[in-house]
Amino acid sequence: MTRVAVLALVVTHPAFAAENPWTRIKAPAEGRPESIGSPSAGCVRGATALTKDSGKGYVLVRPSRGRNFGHPRLVTLIEEIAKERTGRKQAPLLIGDLGLPRGGPTMSAHSSHQTGLDADIWYHQHRQWIGRRQVTIRDRERLYAPGMVDKKRLAVTRAFGNDQRELLRSFAISPEVDRILVHFAIKRELCRRMPHEPWIRKIRPWFGHDHHFHVRLICSPSDPLCRKGDPIPEGNGCDNTLDWWWSAEARSDETKNLDRQEHPVMPTLPAECAPLATDSRQT
Ligand SMILES: [Zn+2]
Repeated sequence: MTRVAVLALVVTHPAFAAENPWTRIKAPAEGRPESIGSPSAGCVRGATALTKDSGKGYVLVRPSRGRNFGHPRLVTLIEEIAKERTGRKQAPLLIGDLGLPRGGPTMSAHSSHQTGLDADIWYHQHRQWIGRRQVTIRDRERLYAPGMVDKKRLAVTRAFGNDQRELLRSFAISPEVDRILVHFAIKRELCRRMPHEPWIRKIRPWFGHDHHFHVRLICSPSDPLCRKGDPIPEGNGCDNTLDWWWSAEARSDETKNLDRQEHPVMPTLPAECAPLATDSRQT
């Protein structure tokens, strides 16, 4: 089976992840950085990596996953925010997944993270690591982060405080950021506390996302093949549309969403991604 054919194949079982060429490629594709396609069906050329070293104001959590690649705009944004935090003697950013070296599907619980424009940032602030130059790989592989939402009450816990709000704000105010996905209870908490802050418009309710939030950058005007998501509706998102997330219908959708995560489907990627799906240096 050719690799191009694999790209177009729709599969419904995780066993097919072995057929996924994107997870086997270890180096970014050279050339002008460009995001191609949509977050759930796309790829990226010219990605760069966040370093796996510590001491830069951020630490990659679970570095063994190898998902520390993104469009240079994403990597730069994280590095800049991390640097500002270091200057303020704040805890290092805890960075979860970005994407694979050339983006593409990971065939894991993530269906997005495919165009180098998505990053998961943990809410937890690990104060023990403030000013620490060396955080061992072992510590990062084993780090536990408390969730910020009580799953019975569907409301934030006391773990979600000023540090977490400030962290969200630091990303949301960047013009590079299109939107940030958070657990719906976190959106409601922001609506209660700071409904007039313009940046909370970018904070969008979603399922999960109670121990990390998901930052998505805008498509650059110089990336014509980058597919934008639907525009964010007018307003701060604190109106009665937010109430839906506590409805029976939402609980049903939540179950379906979890099911989709357990049974990832290989998306059909744009044709322009096909040349990136093989690494000539490895064959
Ligand atoms: Zn994510």
